[in-house]
Amino acid sequence: MSGQRAIEILQSVFGFPGFREGQDQAIEAVLDDRHVLAVMPTGAGKSLCFQVPALVKGGLTVVISPLVALMQNQVAILKLSGVKAVTINSGQSRDENVAAWRAAASGEANLLYLSPERLMTERMIAALKKLSPGLIAIDEAHCISQWGPAFRPEYEDLKHLKNLFPDIPIIALTATADPLTREHIADKLFDRDAEIIVTGFDRPNLHLTVEMKVNWKKQLLNFLEGRDNESGIIYCLSRKKTEETAQMLQDQGYNALAYHAGMDQESRTVNQDRFITEPGIIMVATIAFGMGIDKPDIRFVFHTDLPGSPEAYYQEIGRAGRDRNEAVVHMLYGLDDIRMRRTFIENEGGGEERARREHQRLDALLAYCEAPECRRRTLLDYFGEQIEACGKCDCCNNPAETVEGDEVGRVILGVVEATGQRYGAGHIVDVITGKSNEKILQMGHDSLSAYGSGKAHKAPQWRGIIRQLVAAGFLAIDIRGYGALVITDKGRALVKGDTAFRYRLDVVQDRAKTSRVAR
Ligand code: ADP
Ligand code: ZN
Repeated sequence: MSGQRAIEILQSVFGFPGFREGQDQAIEAVLDDRHVLAVMPTGAGKSLCFQVPALVKGGLTVVISPLVALMQNQVAILKLSGVKAVTINSGQSRDENVAAWRAAASGEANLLYLSPERLMTERMIAALKKLSPGLIAIDEAHCISQWGPAFRPEYEDLKHLKNLFPDIPIIALTATADPLTREHIADKLFDRDAEIIVTGFDRPNLHLTVEMKVNWKKQLLNFLEGRDNESGIIYCLSRKKTEETAQMLQDQGYNALAYHAGMDQESRTVNQDRFITEPGIIMVATIAFGMGIDKPDIRFVFHTDLPGSPEAYYQEIGRAGRDRNEAVVHMLYGLDDIRMRRTFIENEGGGEERARREHQRLDALLAYCEAPECRRRTLLDYFGEQIEACGKCDCCNNPAETVEGDEVGRVILGVVEATGQRYGAGHIVDVITGKSNEKILQMGHDSLSAYGSGKAHKAPQWRGIIRQLVAAGFLAIDIRGYGALVITDKGRALVKGDTAFRYRLDVVQDRAKTSRVAR
C-alpha cells in the first residue's frame, strides 16, 4: 500500500493533486527497492521522484547533486513544504555543516544533499553505512558520462555505490536523453540492472521550422511580420548581436529588449521582469537567458544562429508554448555557423574524446537541419522517441524535393562494410572519392572495389548524403567506436533491397553559397 502513501504525501505535503507522467512509475519502482534511471525533460518534476519515496520510506535519503546552488535551492524549497532537508557543502560554514550532519545522523532530517566528492570519502561512506539510508538519489546523472554534455570526474566514483550499499535502491535522474549517454549511465551506476523510465519529450504544439541563412535580418523581419502582439525570444550567438538586433527591432517599432550575461545585473532583472509581466515583448538574448523562465505564453523562439547541440536546441525551443497553445520555433543556419560551432568545440578544451562527442552532437543537429522528412520525428528520434510525422513542421507542410538514393546508399554502406565499420564519415568519403592519403594506403583501402567508385559527386555532397543516411537511420554513429559509422538493421534492409532510401536533392546540387552540406 506504499502507492497509496505516496499519493497521500504528494497531496498533503506537496499540495499537488496527482502525479505527472513517469513520476508514479519511478516512485513505485523505488519503493519496490529497484534501481531506477529516470529520463525526463527539464521541468517535468524529477525531484519528486525521490522526495516522495524519501518521505514514504522514512529514515534517511542521500541526494547527490553537482552544484551547491542546486542543493541549497532544493533544501530551501523542501523547507517551505515542511520537509526536513539539510545539505553539507563548501558554501556553508563548518558549524553549519556539523549541524547538518547531526540532523541527518539523529534522524531529524529526512534528506541529506551532498556533492559526489563529499560523499565518496571513506569516512563519509562508513558513517552513512551506520545510518543505513533507505534511498540514494543521483541528480544530474549524465555528469557521470564522459560523453554527456557535462562530464564531472567526481561523478565517476559513484559507480561504486551499488556495491557499497548493495541493499539500497538508487535512483538516477537526468534530462539528457540521447540513448548512448543513457546507456552509459545505466552501465556505470547499475551494471544495467535498473528500470529505465523515459517520459515523452514530444511537444505537439510546437511548429518546427528551419531555414538556410541568406540574409538573416530580412529573414527575421519577415518572420516577425504580424507578430507584434506576441511574446517571443530571439536567440543570438553573441552579446553584440543581441544588442544590435534589439536596436534594429526597436527602430522597426517592435517592443524588443536585450539580455545577455555582459549586462549589469539590474538591467538584466528589469528586462526579464518586463518580458514576464508585459504582453508582446520580444527578448533578444544569448543563451544566458531562459534558465528557470516559466512564462507560459511565449509564442515563438527564433534562432538567428545554429545552437550547439540537439540538447541545447531542445531546451531553448522548449520555452515556447508552455501553455500548450500553438507556438512556432524557427532556426536559421548557414555555413558560417557550422564553422563557428566546430571552432568552439576545438577551442573548448576538455580533451579529444569530448571534442569528438561534441562534434557528433553537432552532426546530429545538422542532420535535423537537413531532415528530408518530419523534423519533429528526426529530433525526437535522436532522443530515442518514435512518433508519426507531425504534419506541422516545414518538412511535413512543404516536403523537400527528394531523389531515389538506393544505389548511392548501397555504395556508401558497401564501403562502410568493406572497411569493417570502423571509420567515420571523413574516411568513408575519402575511399569513395578515391583519395590517396596515408591512412588509405596504410590500410590498403585503395584496393577495395568501391575505391574511387563515387565520382558522381564531390566530397561535400557525399558527406551530405551520409548525413541523410544517418538522419534516416540507415547508418548510426558508434560513439564507443570513436564515432565510426555502423550499419543498422534498416541499413542492412537497404542493402538487401527490402527498403528504399531517398535523399534531398538540394544536398547534391552544387550551390557554393548556400549548400547545406559543407563542413
Ligand atoms: P525537473 O527537476 O524535472 O526539472 P522539478 O522537479 O524542478 O523538475 O519540477 C518542476 C516543477 O514542477 C516544480 O515547480 C514542481 O513543484 C512541479 N511539479 C512536480 N511534480 C508535480 C506534480 N505532480 N504536479 C504539479 N506540479 C508538479
Ligand atoms: Zn513534421
